[in-house]
Amino acid sequence: MSSTVGFIGLGNMGGPMAVNLVKAGHKVLGFDLSDAAMSALADAGGEKATGVADLAAAADVIVTMLPAGKHVRQIYEGEGGILENAKPGTLMIDSSTIDVDSARAVSAAAIEKGMQMVDAPVSGGVAGAAGGTLTFMVGGPDEAFGLAKHYLDIMGKTIVHAGGAGTGQAAKICNNMLLGISMVGVCEAFVLAERLGLDAQKLFDISSTASGQCWSLTSYCPVPGPLPSSPANRDYQPGFAAAMMLKDLKLAQEAANSSGAATPLGAEAESLYTLFCNSGGESQDFSGIIKFLRGS
Ligand code: NAD
Repeated sequence: MSSTVGFIGLGNMGGPMAVNLVKAGHKVLGFDLSDAAMSALADAGGEKATGVADLAAAADVIVTMLPAGKHVRQIYEGEGGILENAKPGTLMIDSSTIDVDSARAVSAAAIEKGMQMVDAPVSGGVAGAAGGTLTFMVGGPDEAFGLAKHYLDIMGKTIVHAGGAGTGQAAKICNNMLLGISMVGVCEAFVLAERLGLDAQKLFDISSTASGQCWSLTSYCPVPGPLPSSPANRDYQPGFAAAMMLKDLKLAQEAANSSGAATPLGAEAESLYTLFCNSGGESQDFSGIIKFLRGS
């Protein structure tokens, strides 16, 4: 079944995701503030929309991939936005990583207008977006999830229905808070080992099969050597940039504050990544925080 898909936000992630929808045979109308981004989609077989209102009126399905909650709220709820112009029953998929409160507010406004909506943030980065192998964490009613899955299967490999509205965003920030904390812990262990004269490879060999084992150690080791694929071997070129980890840690702290959850280690990880980013690390891989912790 071929649909008209409106895609707003054709950046590093949204651009290749939209192209995968074109390749699957859908008519894709794209909109972005950047004309170059829209031209790239047009070169790949999509079409440029003249604006959000026209795109929303023409689309059966709308996907958004925008920087933050304020952009998403403006594009959906603002004057001339999606909700004002879309046909009732239109399926809306917001794949941006945003705060849970904004995701729930936009979803409630969409449902009130008779639309179907899911929040569906991703992990897998630019390579996953290009390869159609993203993981989608999806929040929303069963019916909307069922409708969205067809499109998410084109752009991703693993599609998980996390629960009601906002739970896709909740899953994303809980996971990334855990990742930020565990990466700092693994880096501290390697820094202490260095000071104690324990070889990094030996620590890796022991801890990767012992109780300290975790993904940050065994799949993304922050020191060069033990794991050739990890960014530590390419002078911490991302990978997953520290600035993006900091964005997700900030979202986790906002959610912890608004929900009353105690997340002291999440707060500490946010402070450490703020210091790392402010000292020049923001475009490095997030595992590069080991240099900051080491003091070199
Ligand atoms: P990006 O900055 O490359 O793309 C965002 C695009 O949105 C830009 O092209 C920008 O021009 C456009 N945009 C902003 N405001 C707009 C508006 N009002 N109307 C139309 N277009 C507008 O960002 P990205 O890396 O593609 O990330 C997008 C989202 O995906 C973010 O929420 C990010 O946190 C999340 N994410 C990114 C990655 C990654 O590795 N890049 C991984 C997982 C999740």
